[in-house]
Amino acid sequence: MLKSLIDHFRKKHYCAIHGINFDEKRCLLLAPHPDDELIGCGGTLIMHPKNFDVLCLATSGMHRQGQTPKENSRVRFDDFTTIMSEIGVNRSFIFEYYENGRCREFYPTMLNEYMKCVNVCDYNYIFLPHIHDNHPDHQYIVVLLKEMIKHQGYVADLKLVFYEVWSPLHNVNAYVSIDRVISDKCRFLKKYRTVGEGYAEPIKGLNRYRGLVCTYNEHNFLECFEVVDFYDH
Ligand SMILES: [Zn+2]
Repeated sequence: MLKSLIDHFRKKHYCAIHGINFDEKRCLLLAPHPDDELIGCGGTLIMHPKNFDVLCLATSGMHRQGQTPKENSRVRFDDFTTIMSEIGVNRSFIFEYYENGRCREFYPTMLNEYMKCVNVCDYNYIFLPHIHDNHPDHQYIVVLLKEMIKHQGYVADLKLVFYEVWSPLHNVNAYVSIDRVISDKCRFLKKYRTVGEGYAEPIKGLNRYRGLVCTYNEHNFLECFEVVDFYDH
């Protein structure tokens, strides 16, 4: 009964699901804050590290665990840098921010700095949180990216790859099986000292759920995405 129901919904809603071809593709991952890149794309990063440049837009230091925002920011900076280096991504960048207020007010002031690090015109795939993510900073990233594209241009085959962090994606049309690296993803998530043990199990649960509803357990753990051609937007 369950299988036939799922097959029915797969036919209706998931018929377009496919894997992502990373061969020779250059990927830019935009992360609003440290750990977003691991939550949404950690397994994908671990499997294809050399395809990726990762730009974390703000450390977003805050009063936490007895730390001042500046101290907290430094811990997040160090953890991001260490984790990206251990995963072996092509290049990674992160910017410190620990003032009051939303990072979405900080991001536009940093546009030129971001563009000194990366040229969006160099990438076939640009990964970013989806626009219905339940966090105002995350929602802003698509605006920031449009500004970068306005200044730097884009390749003709550019695809935007939306990933899920604080809200699940509705229109999933691509996935990466991370069965082989799920334990590594959890291990790296636990390395973020400002998160501790707290995120690994719930995010593993999301990835496991995706394995069920998108491939009916053909894969156990998936990272899911909505991939769109840029000219559609
Ligand atoms: Zn975030």
